Amino acid sequence: MEAYPLLIIQWRPKVNELLETSIFCPYCGEQISVTIETMDESQEYIEDCQVCCRPITFDITVAFDGSSSLSIRAENDTM
Ligand SMILES: [Zn+2]
Repeated sequence: MEAYPLLIIQWRPKVNELLETSIFCPYCGEQISVTIETMDESQEYIEDCQVCCRPITFDITVAFDGSSSLSIRAENDTM
């Protein structure tokens, strides 16, 4: 099985800003568009791929300087 690199997106959110971005599914490799609601604390949630319907883990980390980063990984990825 082909390994996809961890995807990291960084941005500086405004309060309650909706970030529209596109990611590549870690399972099927298709590009899908997602909307992320920015919050003031780190969060992790799962959203199904729009193409292959498998669960993708979205991991949002908020740094001290207010910048956020999003990483994508497969749900069962133990890395
Ligand atoms: Zn997929």
